[in-house]
Amino acid sequence: MTYPSAYIQELLARTDIYDLVREDVRLKKIKRPGRWKGLCPFYAERKPSFIVLQDRQFARCHGCGHCWGPIRYMIELHGLTYEETIQQLARRYRFYYKEWKRKNNRRKE
Ligand SMILES: [Zn+2]
Repeated sequence: MTYPSAYIQELLARTDIYDLVREDVRLKKIKRPGRWKGLCPFYAERKPSFIVLQDRQFARCHGCGHCWGPIRYMIELHGLTYEETIQQLARRYRFYYKEWKRKNNRRKE
C-alpha cells in the first residue's frame, strides 16, 4: 500500500524522534536546546557520538556517519518495513490513515 505524501507529512508533523529514540537509547541532554546524546544503537561504541536533533527531527551519528529521520530510524533499527513503520507511528500518535482519508474525502465534497 502506498500512502499519499500529504498523509505522511501530517504524520511526521506529529512524530517526535526524541520520543522514539529514547525507548532504545539512554539519552542525555547536551548544552544546545533540543539536542540529546547517547550511545549509537546501530554500532558498538563506548563514547557517545549519537546525537538526536529534536529541533530538526533527525538523529545523526558522528561515529558511523549515518543520519536517520524518524521513518528510516524505525525501519533500520527495528527491522520494520515502510508500511509497518507507518502503521506503528499512526498507532503511537493516534493519527490513522483511514480516519485521515475519510476526513479528506469529506473536505473535497
Ligand atoms: Zn553510529
